[in-house]
Amino acid sequence: MTKAAQTKRQQQASIQQIADQLCDIASNFWWTWNSSAQRLFAAIDPMLWEATERNPLQTIKQAPDHRLLTLASDEAFLKNLKAVQKQFADYMKSKTWFDRTVKGKDKKARIAYFCAEFAIHESFPIYSGGLGVLAGDHLKSASDLGIPLTAVGLMYRHGYYRQEIEADGSTKAVYPEYDFNDFPIEDTGIIVPVPVGRRRIHAKVWLAKVGRIEAYLLDTDIEENTPKDREITHFLYGGDNETRIRQELILGVGGTLALQALDIEPTVYHLNEGHAAFNGLHRFSELLKEGVPSEEAMETVRAGGCFTTHTPVPAGHDRFDVKMARKYLSQYAGEDTGLSVNDVLQLGSEDLDNKNAPFCMTVLALNFCERANGVAELHGDTSRRMWIDHFGLSDPDEVPIGHVTNGIHSQTWLAPEIEPLYTKYLKPNWASPNADSDWWKKADKIPADVLWNTRKMLRTRLIRFVRERLVQQAIKHGQPLEDIVTAQTMLDENTLTIGFARRFATYKRAPLIFHDMKRLKAIIASTDRPVQFVFAGKAHPADKDGQKYLQQIVEFSKQPGFRGRIAVIENYDMQVGRMLTSGVDVWLNNPLRPMEASGTSGMKPPLHGGINCSILDGWWPESYNKKNGYAIGGKQFDKQSEQDTYDANSFYDILEKQMLPTFYKTNKEGVATKWVDMMEASMKTVCAQFSTHRMLGDYTSQYYLPAHRDALKK
Ligand SMILES: *Cc1c(COP(=O)(O)O)cnc(C)c1O
Repeated sequence: MTKAAQTKRQQQASIQQIADQLCDIASNFWWTWNSSAQRLFAAIDPMLWEATERNPLQTIKQAPDHRLLTLASDEAFLKNLKAVQKQFADYMKSKTWFDRTVKGKDKKARIAYFCAEFAIHESFPIYSGGLGVLAGDHLKSASDLGIPLTAVGLMYRHGYYRQEIEADGSTKAVYPEYDFNDFPIEDTGIIVPVPVGRRRIHAKVWLAKVGRIEAYLLDTDIEENTPKDREITHFLYGGDNETRIRQELILGVGGTLALQALDIEPTVYHLNEGHAAFNGLHRFSELLKEGVPSEEAMETVRAGGCFTTHTPVPAGHDRFDVKMARKYLSQYAGEDTGLSVNDVLQLGSEDLDNKNAPFCMTVLALNFCERANGVAELHGDTSRRMWIDHFGLSDPDEVPIGHVTNGIHSQTWLAPEIEPLYTKYLKPNWASPNADSDWWKKADKIPADVLWNTRKMLRTRLIRFVRERLVQQAIKHGQPLEDIVTAQTMLDENTLTIGFARRFATYKRAPLIFHDMKRLKAIIASTDRPVQFVFAGKAHPADKDGQKYLQQIVEFSKQPGFRGRIAVIENYDMQVGRMLTSGVDVWLNNPLRPMEASGTSGMKPPLHGGINCSILDGWWPESYNKKNGYAIGGKQFDKQSEQDTYDANSFYDILEKQMLPTFYKTNKEGVATKWVDMMEASMKTVCAQFSTHRMLGDYTSQYYLPAHRDALKK
């Protein structure tokens, strides 16, 4: 071999070695909540990192050889690589909260957690919104706390959709085709045959690792299936009702079969939303086939079942007409189960006296789960009233639906820029996954000027992000030069900044602040006490009203008086969510009470000294104490138009009389001390209480372990 060939070979080996080491770290989603790991990936090639939506595998794959070769001999990079490797290894072998606090037979609990979507990172697009964000955060906290949980979901070829806002404000839905090789998922080699009607559809099982947690994701886009069946897992919440029932069979039944094929034997099944409720029907029918008497089989299935309902909005509860249900569920009727088709249909019926009543997935879930809960105290109450007929009761307080208030996984949503501040003032172990840690109480140890300046730093970072995004958006959509100029100079780093980002479901009333245009314009026009807004939001592709709301806001943002002060950015995803919730001073939330079951986005700003201004709906009534933020409205009206007027006026009043005076009343050093007091109150009352660590502790003690004990008795 020539010398040159030898050198070349050595170089190739070095490139391979560094790429392998980096891929190892990327192959477990643990990096999505570790800022050192993210910095390491970004350092490979910052432009590529951004261009791939911070996808480490793509960044490593696309990085030029010469770059990897340079890194392979870059001392500083190698040192960071080693440090991250060690952090990951230490994390995986550390003793956890579950190890330490759970004793005896409870240690044998094994929870299967079913959900139709998981938001783990923006580069892994198998989520649409709040439900997915909650489920992703649930897995990360389960990992941190060492809860023995296995996740089950679907792997979507085209994800949800990418949103582009056209120059006229209309929504364009883009469906990228994803290459699964770009994702850190492994092929388990398992394919399960799922009985669907009289046929079988095959689902391939992928594995995604989220720290200690394994998530199994089912995919029907494989050769064994007909072209139509291959499409079942193409789109999240896409297609018609028939696609939906097929997806739900793959999730609920296929997911259960996948666990069996993997030799995983859960004692507890947590159905996160009704989408996976066929899990119960499948397990029930298996017991019947074994000859277990019907009543006993039902009790056995119910014992380990936990069901979480997530919305009071009727459209959020899947219903299938009887004909469709009959077509897809006939396999559960017959001699082997002893059930008639009508018996099967009744398990999902909301009205047993009406043979044509639709088959409802929430009813099915309630029938097969002994334990059920809403996602905030108020939502628990709303749900008890909503499902009272199902239980045949007259007193809502007796309805067996409890609540566990949602939370967020702090490390996922925390801006890395603020970490050093907390390390300095909240030490020692402010970030340790300790369920009862109350390190946030020390927030008032942070000097007011330091916190105030940090706020400005994060606001400035958001403004830079918004400008960049809007310039790109304007260029991409061929908007006039005027728009590009506005984008480059818009928003001001010393101005009170209010954020609003949501799925644009109509009950969230995104355009509420524009209710009285004259009044809003007068407020915004102020030169000594200005205010500015950043909006983002996606409506479901079929939700034309939600899209119209977005278009209205885009149009308003271009009007004189608003231009440059109101920004609307496209494609609300986890990254936009992180930037907005870490950058704004105030997080606005104005749903129609009590339609917001919990909401979690408002839990993110307090990690960064942000303050909530919200209708007393969802989680906010549990937190609001007059000192840690603002409550909009208070009176309930029957007519929505009256409610809108009242709530909008309440918001303007708060803005004019409370927010602006407090934010702009600064001391000699330029610090708004009263505002900083609110920031600290917000941090102290929200961050620990509304975290998924607290939430998982509640689920474990109130739901998982009791369900496990009941299941063992069966
Ligand atoms: C936090 C978050 C949500 C949840 O928001 P709510 O409107 O409060 O339910 C949804 N989508 C994204 C991208 C988020 O970051």
